[in-house]
Amino acid sequence: MRFPLKLNFDLTRYIIKNKMMKNDKFPLVLMLEPTHLCNLACSGCGRIREYADTLQQMMTLEECLRSVDECPAPVVTITGGEPFLYPHVYELIEGVLQRGKHIYLCTNGLLLEKALERMRPHPNFTLNVHMDGQEKTHDRILERKGAFKAAIEGIRKAKRLGFRLCTNTTIFKETDLDEIDTLFTSLKNLGVDGFLVAPGFGYEAVGEKLFLERRDIERKFRDVYEMSKRHRFFSTPMYLRFLMGEKELECTPWGNPTRNTQGWKAPCYLITDKHYPSFSEMMEKTDWSKYGVGKDERCSQCMMHCGFEPTVVSEVGKSWKDIWEMARWNLS
Ligand code: SF4
Ligand code: SF4
Repeated sequence: MRFPLKLNFDLTRYIIKNKMMKNDKFPLVLMLEPTHLCNLACSGCGRIREYADTLQQMMTLEECLRSVDECPAPVVTITGGEPFLYPHVYELIEGVLQRGKHIYLCTNGLLLEKALERMRPHPNFTLNVHMDGQEKTHDRILERKGAFKAAIEGIRKAKRLGFRLCTNTTIFKETDLDEIDTLFTSLKNLGVDGFLVAPGFGYEAVGEKLFLERRDIERKFRDVYEMSKRHRFFSTPMYLRFLMGEKELECTPWGNPTRNTQGWKAPCYLITDKHYPSFSEMMEKTDWSKYGVGKDERCSQCMMHCGFEPTVVSEVGKSWKDIWEMARWNLS
């Protein structure tokens, strides 16, 4: 099975409960950014640019756990910045696990090997390591010689210790998909459990010509979809079919709410119009009808997982074809 039984069970139960309560806007994954501080300065990173003035700020542990309690999402992605630079990261992990929630912890891998000494494998805990290519490419994108080797050593050790681990790859305009195919084969041989892929999207704050536009994404992801038949992708087949232009999806930005040092970021992980002091205020006061492709110019090229994967998950019960596709995919 692609995802642990408990994650499938908790997500399904949560979605059914919301549907029965006729709640049409509910979060699935909380993106928690306790700090934007990072030990890298990757070319495509929107975070360190958008939050350049507040990089040194950190949420307190209490604020982080209060946010986890405020937001009913069953999955918490701990991200940043680099979460292993957050001094309370281990207490935060334990606190989230004690609440029965599932964690995906995103890291660039530089501090992973050492951090593993302070963590324990848990069925609700998955490490998610940023891998953008083979050594030369990865080190160039992350702008740090040795970043690839450090991540690989971390992955090797994490798998030896029994951690569940996936990687996360951004597909840019220049990405060589044959190289990514080879990378996934070698990561699979290290025991990596699955692969997440996402198109590089032009954050407002980055303004560089690295990114794919909608038509380029569709072209490139036709080949990525073929690759998903050879490797164990964690990105859903419906999302991949959306990326290759075969399926229509509406953005559901409330599905992946983001909480960081400045508050609850609205409307989404990518664009920022306001930070709210509480989750409920963000949900109530954001005019969701203003956002999405065709509604806001900033959304026109966006096909990011944070806006569209929640749509896939919450809509899966609507069609028997989708239920069958998801079930077959998850069981494979
Ligand atoms: S590792 Fe992540 S947070 Fe740090 S600079 Fe790179 S993309 Fe940004
Ligand atoms: S389309 Fe993209 S940028 Fe626009 S609201 Fe949705 S996730 Fe955010």
